[in-house]
Amino acid sequence: MSITVRAPAKINLHLGVGAPREDGFHPLVTVYQAVGICDDVTASRSAGWTLGVTLPDWIDPDAVPVTGDNIVDRAAELLAAHHGVDQHAAVSIAKSIPVAGGMAGGSADAAAALVALDRLWELGTSDEELLRLAAELGSDVPFALLGGTALGTGRGELVEPVPDAATWWWVAVPSTQGLSTPAVYQRFDELAADAPEEPDDAQAVLLALATGDPQILAGALHNDLESAALDLRPDLGDLLELGERHGALRGLVSGSGPTCVFLAVDADHAREVAGALSESHDVVLVANGPVAGAHVVTYV
Ligand code: ATP
Repeated sequence: MSITVRAPAKINLHLGVGAPREDGFHPLVTVYQAVGICDDVTASRSAGWTLGVTLPDWIDPDAVPVTGDNIVDRAAELLAAHHGVDQHAAVSIAKSIPVAGGMAGGSADAAAALVALDRLWELGTSDEELLRLAAELGSDVPFALLGGTALGTGRGELVEPVPDAATWWWVAVPSTQGLSTPAVYQRFDELAADAPEEPDDAQAVLLALATGDPQILAGALHNDLESAALDLRPDLGDLLELGERHGALRGLVSGSGPTCVFLAVDADHAREVAGALSESHDVVLVANGPVAGAHVVTYV
């Protein structure tokens, strides 16, 4: 038996970050949107545990750990321990989501692995249990299970779907050099020493989503981590400007970066902006959102 589960990358349409809590995590108010840049995780029956990764040529193979440190190893251990079963499976990850790119690629793989292994091992884990295990693996993992568009609170792990009936078109430009999420938060703490305990609310983005109008959403996009990411990587500021000069409604650093995303009017406009950015950047992706969270695509 072999099961493939697909899980999407995320963009934070709003990312409000507060001062660090006592446990060291930052409180977040975020609006996640799942977009159609996806990783596939395939799990098959096996006598032991193996993990392999395949990558497009633009992702550095050394950036993804394969010897026990992969978040998929941790997802499998956690699920197996939760049910008291042996961790036997041959798992392969087919990556398309930029690594250390602020699009939660590792979280997508963890969510996909939970779903694939739950089916392979016939565990029948409830949705609530899956969400709880996901939250133990990482703040963005519950959203990767849920997909669509959702409000995230707590450290991002408390997710609640929000209405989003439109289709939004994005251009994403990954960077060859990743940015470490902890490094960006550290820079945020240095730059925003007076950050409030309660992060900014997401009202403007939630209202903009309800209009279905990309011009209005463009004006509402907000990322509190953007100045920290730009401080660490000033070249990203040039990229944001370039995308907007090429007609994007708005450029934004995705989460902790360094991937930059550009909102377009529609599919044709996204392809136009992507074409113009391709003249100076090797990898330019077009994706729409919202799309589904982790879901089975092949079951044989
Ligand atoms: P986020 O947006 O959630 O902060 P990110 O998209 O910036 O995350 P990831 O691609 O999830 O970053 O990778 C962060 C780090 O996790 C990588 O540098 C890598 O060392 C490690 N890692 C572990 N498992 C994976 C995986 N399956 N895919 C990618 N990176 C992984």
